[in-house]
Amino acid sequence: MNKLYDTHCHIDFKVFNNDRGPVVKNASEAGVERFMVPGVSAEQWPRLQQHVEQFPSWRFALGLHPWFIKQHNRHQLSELEQALSNQHKRLRAVGEIGLDATCDNADLQRELFIEQLKLAKQFRLPAIIHHRKTLETTHPLVKQYGPESGVIHAFSGSYEQAMKFVDCGYKLGVGGVITYPRAQKTRQAIAKVPLSALVLETDSPDMPICGHQGERNEPARVAKVLEALADLREMSKDSLSEVLWKNSCELFNDAPPASNGHVSG
Ligand SMILES: [Zn+2]
Repeated sequence: MNKLYDTHCHIDFKVFNNDRGPVVKNASEAGVERFMVPGVSAEQWPRLQQHVEQFPSWRFALGLHPWFIKQHNRHQLSELEQALSNQHKRLRAVGEIGLDATCDNADLQRELFIEQLKLAKQFRLPAIIHHRKTLETTHPLVKQYGPESGVIHAFSGSYEQAMKFVDCGYKLGVGGVITYPRAQKTRQAIAKVPLSALVLETDSPDMPICGHQGERNEPARVAKVLEALADLREMSKDSLSEVLWKNSCELFNDAPPASNGHVSG
């Protein structure tokens, strides 16, 4: 079985309240050994941390997500700074942060994004970056204010757009998008970028894979994303998953591979 890391899932959300344990167990039976669960709002952070205490396989991030812009305010930036300085050992990133052109309040979005990028840099943590019709405006901000590493969550865009972020040291989150044949531009980009820039994710409960539209997405399906990516990159699932596991651990400063460089399992 391939050892997998779901680098982006919201399994702390209420929609998993009735079966969170079984969902995590299902995923681990599919090979998913680690989960990165990003923060979305100051209100959610304490609840997220409670869940983290129950599941040793979870890593987490704290951030103010643009979808919840109406709940955010500038004071929460100091709360974030305080939380980051507590240095919980499984707090591994600042996120989920970013710009979303389909949400209101573009000025506040931009201000919060910049300030959170600066905090990530200050605490030497990677940033988990959300984008929607904003890749072009996101890049210069990441370059100017962002930390040395991070991930463009649910990357969708061209090869040229991908490489701008890869050249900044950022990774690209590969999820259900590549399972849709119509996503040609993104599929072509993902097929071509350096393998060292890729990590897998599901974005559960969102972004169902092809054939499961309308269903709640789950981290177990990251195994299906691996399959699609192996096809796209013309690689075996075994060698691909080994590289992706290493990329993910590197991204979130997680247990390094064994000293002989070989990832077992
Ligand atoms: Zn997300």
